[in-house]
Amino acid sequence: MSYIGHLIKSFTLFELLKGLSITGRRLFSPKVTIQYPEEKTPISPRFRGHHALRRYPNGEERCIACKLCEAACPALAITIELEERDDGSRRTTQYDIDMFKCIYCGFCEEACPVDAIVETRIFEYHFEKQGENIMTKEKLLAFGDKYEESIALDRVADAPYR
Ligand code: SF4
Ligand code: SF4
Repeated sequence: MSYIGHLIKSFTLFELLKGLSITGRRLFSPKVTIQYPEEKTPISPRFRGHHALRRYPNGEERCIACKLCEAACPALAITIELEERDDGSRRTTQYDIDMFKCIYCGFCEEACPVDAIVETRIFEYHFEKQGENIMTKEKLLAFGDKYEESIALDRVADAPYR
């Protein structure tokens, strides 16, 4: 652009008016912002949030201590110890997830053959004390018990895509 052209644009505030025209156009269009946390956006059933361990309806733990989730975890965030019961079945004695190491990739969930370890829609959580980042088996099972209804619904909604 010529020097004269630049000069005319500067004196007529062309760039400023161009910018304001965009602001003006957006002023009356539908808003895309929401007032979080009072308002929330829809969440996909595949959302990968806080982990949970599930039980069968009879209360038995789903996890059979196969350690596939531990092997699949790229962040080495899962630690499992196990024992064999008198009836020959295997169950975990320790199932820890270090939430500071976890990258929420969902590989543990994908690897699990019995839908025991899942990632829920819950993403609003925090830790205040040292060590709270370790989600123990007891905490994960309690989380699963609390949110089983929504976990089960998400699994049904997601089933066609698995
Ligand atoms: S979501 Fe990924 S990183 Fe986190 S525990 Fe599962 S496999 Fe490991
Ligand atoms: S959570 Fe699933 S993949 Fe992990 S040890 Fe238990 S049964 Fe195996």
